[in-house]
Amino acid sequence: MCQNAGMKKVYRRTTIIAATLALFACSQDSPPAAEPAANAAEDQIDLIIKGEYVVSMDGSASVYENGAVAVDDGLILAVGTADEIIAEYNAAETLSGENRIVMPGLINGHSHAAMTLLRGVADDLALMDWLNNYIFPAEVQFVDREFVRIGTELACWEMIRGGTTTFVDMYYFPDTVAEVVERCGMRAMVSATVIDQRSPDAENAADSINKGIAFIDRWKGENSRITPIFGPHANYTLNAEQLKAVRAAATEYGVGISIHMSESPFELQYSKDTFGMTSIEFYESIGFLDGPTIAAHVVWPTDVEIPILAERKVGVIHNPTSNMKIASGISPVAKMLQAGVRVGLGTDGAASNNDLDMWEEMRLAALLQKVDRMDPTVLSASTVLAMATSGGALATGLGETVGSIEAGKRADIIQVAFDDVHHVPTYDVISHLVYVSDEQDVASVVVDGKVLMREREMLTIDTERVAAEANALATKIQAALEERNQ
Ligand SMILES: [Zn+2]
Repeated sequence: MCQNAGMKKVYRRTTIIAATLALFACSQDSPPAAEPAANAAEDQIDLIIKGEYVVSMDGSASVYENGAVAVDDGLILAVGTADEIIAEYNAAETLSGENRIVMPGLINGHSHAAMTLLRGVADDLALMDWLNNYIFPAEVQFVDREFVRIGTELACWEMIRGGTTTFVDMYYFPDTVAEVVERCGMRAMVSATVIDQRSPDAENAADSINKGIAFIDRWKGENSRITPIFGPHANYTLNAEQLKAVRAAATEYGVGISIHMSESPFELQYSKDTFGMTSIEFYESIGFLDGPTIAAHVVWPTDVEIPILAERKVGVIHNPTSNMKIASGISPVAKMLQAGVRVGLGTDGAASNNDLDMWEEMRLAALLQKVDRMDPTVLSASTVLAMATSGGALATGLGETVGSIEAGKRADIIQVAFDDVHHVPTYDVISHLVYVSDEQDVASVVVDGKVLMREREMLTIDTERVAAEANALATKIQAALEERNQ
């Protein structure tokens, strides 16, 4: 299949874009050797990933027909046609490209991973009712290290299975989140949550800031896949002084911040009543945007605020499913993109989604903008695919590291199977990735050059153990909830 040679946007490259790493190049430029260097064991690279199409998401949106990617030591060495890559490199392992599309791993810019264990515990409620009467009390009662370990592992299982390679998390016991990420092989920005109320891991804002500093001390520079950051919850759960203190600590420790921003009509009104201005104007007024910021949601930015987001290089994370389910509103994504704002995509927690499927987020992001603006051209498939990959990397501050398949970037790469009947016929690969593909189509997942899922076989997480642990804990939660509700 995929024999549509007349497909749009397909480039056939005759030269390999690579060569930044002459060390690994073939013997053509080297002194004559007894054997071709590519055959010598010491010149063997780790991995070649082949695909009928390689969708690079690089600056020129190159798509390589019958392409391949060479990977060694976690790094992308080269991308080109399969013939070129195979002629140049000898790999210990090759992932077959038959019926496979190769693309960058998906970046989930906003999640509360361990909330997978609260999936479906309270649905069909408004944000503040849902938070104050269900989620916060349930968290104080049930969330401990064990909850976070099991819930995060369950989330990582779901994300790897669905082709997500990086996620930005905001939850409690961030040490435990980071330990799970370290073991399962994903890439993550892990936030230490800061909130001014009794939470599962702190008493108040000051306590959570101190614990956050200890977390950042432990994890900064510890593992290149794990970036510790601060996660102040929102401006209705923290006051101006507390928010300024978090930014000061983030600046002092050289880390970024992830926060919920301009999410709901409630927040908009609260901000006007409390601070005398809208949410983003308030953050700007206290200097909170003076440093790397990932802002989840941004549903209600004003025309004055959108240029502030662009100027301050705030990474906005659009969460269409969560915004629709809680009826938070429709984020003006197309307008923000047009104004030069960096916009990525996220799932939010599984308690407000109720899954971690980035394919669904891509599709909904496109459809929601179209119907909101009554304009089908307003957000294209290729723009949405970028929001989930290269644009998401830029929004989260990882643009130099991941988000596209280019020599020199870390090898976070997935293979999507195109042999399911819902992909037949295939005229346009990009269209299919956004409007057809789902998480079940993801065949293999590579993060930092390591294969985490090979042909749907999960290699770093014991699926049966995680499911059993999650179900056992859910049984306890359900029993306690029933007792409380009696
Ligand atoms: Zn959230």
